[in-house]
Amino acid sequence: MDRQQEFVLRTVEERDIRFIRLWFTDVLGMLKSVAIAPAELESAFTEGIGFDGSAIEGLTRVYEADMVARPDPTTFQILPWRGDTHGTARMFCDILTPDGEPSMADSRNVLKRILEKASDQGFTFYTHPEVEFYLFEPPVPEKPLVPIDHGGYFDHVARTQGHDFRRGAITMLESMGISVEFSHHEAGPGQNEIDLRYADALTTADNLMTFRTVVKEVALEQGVFASFMPKPLADQPGSGMHTHLSLFEGDRNAFHEAGAKYELSKSARHFIAGLLHHAAEITAVTNQYVNSYKRLWGGAEAPSYICWGHNNRSALVRVPMYKPGKGNSSRIEYRALDTAANPYLAFALMLAAGLKGIEEEYELPDATEDDVWELTEPERRAMGIKPLPQSLDEAISIMERSELVAETLGEHVFAFVLRNKRQEWDGYQAQVTPFELKRLLQVL
Ligand code: GLU
Ligand code: MG
Ligand code: MG
Repeated sequence: MDRQQEFVLRTVEERDIRFIRLWFTDVLGMLKSVAIAPAELESAFTEGIGFDGSAIEGLTRVYEADMVARPDPTTFQILPWRGDTHGTARMFCDILTPDGEPSMADSRNVLKRILEKASDQGFTFYTHPEVEFYLFEPPVPEKPLVPIDHGGYFDHVARTQGHDFRRGAITMLESMGISVEFSHHEAGPGQNEIDLRYADALTTADNLMTFRTVVKEVALEQGVFASFMPKPLADQPGSGMHTHLSLFEGDRNAFHEAGAKYELSKSARHFIAGLLHHAAEITAVTNQYVNSYKRLWGGAEAPSYICWGHNNRSALVRVPMYKPGKGNSSRIEYRALDTAANPYLAFALMLAAGLKGIEEEYELPDATEDDVWELTEPERRAMGIKPLPQSLDEAISIMERSELVAETLGEHVFAFVLRNKRQEWDGYQAQVTPFELKRLLQVL
C-alpha cells in the first residue's frame, strides 16, 4: 500500500463514503463505471477488480473477455452530486489483462505510452481545452430542439438558466479539483463554453470525462438538457473543443523563444508542422462521428483547411496572441477537435503528430494570414493549403494508411476504431434522408 492508497482508505473511512465508483473509458470515449464497497478497496488497489470486458466497446476480443480495473489513487474525488452523508467517490482506473499487463485496448494507456515517449525526450505535454456545448429544453421525440435562450457570443443573458447553469457546473467542477479558467455564452442560442485551466494531458483527459458527467448532472438538476453533439442544429455553429497545447522542459516552456517570430521556438515550429502534416490522418479520431463533419464544413469558425496562422480564426492551428515577458504562456491552439472525441486518444495523436514534427524536423510552411474560406480554390491550391477530410468516410480512408496513427494507437485500438467507424459510415449511407425526400419525391 503506498501513501496515496492509504490516503484514499483513510478518507473513505473518515468521510463515511459508502460506494466507490471505478471509472474507465471505452475506445469511443464513453465513460464506464462499476461501484464497489469500501471493504473491496484494498484488494482493488493490490489486485484490481475483475470484470467481463466483452460487452464494452473495443475493450476485448470475445475470447479474452476477462479484464481487470485497477484504480489510480491520485484521481480520488468525492462526487458532490451524491450528497454529503453516505457519499460516493470515484477513481479513474487503468485496465489490465488478467496477468497484470496493461490492456492494449485501454485508451488511458494509449495516452500514457506516448506521454512516456515525450518524457524520454525531456518533455511534459500540457493541454487546455475550450469546451463548447448546447443547452436545450428537454427534447421531445420527433420535435425540433429548443435551445434554452436566444443569446449570442459573450452575451450576458439576464436572469436565464444559462447563468445559473454555468455557476452550478463550475462550482461542482471546482469542488472536484478541476479549475476553470473562464466561461461564457457562445455564438449559438443556448450554446455555452467552459474553458479548463491548463494541466498535464492525462489529467486534462480525466478532467474532461468528469466534465461531461458534471455538465449532464447539473443539467438534469436544473431541468434542462446538455449535449456535446458536434452539430446539433443545422443553421447554428457547432460545438468544438479547441485545445491549447504546449510542451515544457522542466519549468521552461519549450515553445517559447524570446525575440523569435511570434516568440515561437524551433520546437514549436516543428511541432506545428507535425500537426499540419498529419492532421488529415488523425481526423477520424479528433472528429469521430458522421455528424462531426457537418461542424467542420459548416463554417461558423470551425476549421476546414489545413494551415496555421497568428490569430487567424479560419486556420486549423492558431498561435494566440503572445504576452511579451510571459514566455511560459506560449502555446498553440488546435481547432479541429470536437467535444465528442475520446480525449485520451485525441491528445495521444496530437502529441504523436507534433513529436514526429520535432523528430523529423519538418519544415513549417508560411503562416496564412488570409481568411482561408474567402480564398478561391485555385488560390488555396497555389498556396499549398489542403482541406481536412470532408466526411467520416474520407477520414477513415486516410487514417487506414497512416503509420503514425497505427503505431500510436496500437494495433488493437487502430483496428477497432477503423471497423467501428466504417460501420457507422455504412449505416449512415444506407439512410434515405428528409433532405432527399423533400427535394426529389415530388419532382421525380
Ligand atoms: N463553435 C466554433 C467551432 O465549432 C468555435 C467558436 C470559437 O470559439 O471561436 O469550432
Ligand atoms: Mg468558443
Ligand atoms: Mg478558441
